[in-house]
Amino acid sequence: MAINHLIIAVDGPAGSGKSTLARKIADILGMEYIDTGAMYRALTLKVIEEGIDPTDEDDVLGLLEETTITYENNYIYLDGLEVDKKIRENIINKHVSDIAKIEGVRIKMVELQRELARSDNVIMDGRDIGTVVLPDANFKFFIVASVEERARRRYRELVDRGEPDITYQGILQGIKDRDRLDSTRQVAPLYKSPDAYEIDTTSKTVDESVTEILNIIRGGK
Ligand code: C5P
Repeated sequence: MAINHLIIAVDGPAGSGKSTLARKIADILGMEYIDTGAMYRALTLKVIEEGIDPTDEDDVLGLLEETTITYENNYIYLDGLEVDKKIRENIINKHVSDIAKIEGVRIKMVELQRELARSDNVIMDGRDIGTVVLPDANFKFFIVASVEERARRRYRELVDRGEPDITYQGILQGIKDRDRLDSTRQVAPLYKSPDAYEIDTTSKTVDESVTEILNIIRGGK
């Protein structure tokens, strides 16, 4: 069956490999890649820079009113400034799930994400893409890996980037906390949509997982 407007949803917990895989699939199939975590991260960056308490919903929502987040050519812009590198710092990892659980924040982000998926063929990754943002996606993938492997990946990433004061145990705990917050929150928690294909990347190379996903897409529904 030919598909005119191809939409692929990719969800999964932190460090499962979803962004790496989604980016590669987007390149191979010539689609737009949209990283929705980057949007929540951008707002978190502003909350921290402005010295606002990330758990104070009213203050965060007030700040959101005067914030512009845009996503262009794979880069995220906060009030017109490109912040792609800054939003990957560990301080953002620590607070982003508090920001992402606020209902008013999610309403605004989901609106923006649906708008981005309206015209192009897109592959979008996040936590609630197959369940809430794009429930009619042509293909849904749920990417998983053991928590230890996910922590190892994040630890290597942050060390390679030269972040100070990083320990494996600290990262492991941070990922466990984020898993719990993302999976148990009231609004749009992380869970596998029943019609999503589960891909376990724990002991696979990136190429092996990419091939597994492409075989499913090329095999059709
Ligand atoms: O994917 P990434 O780790 O960059 O996402 C950062 C955080 O943003 C997640 O831990 C989650 O709290 C939030 N998020 C979300 N919904 C999405 C994407 C990310 O709640 N669709």
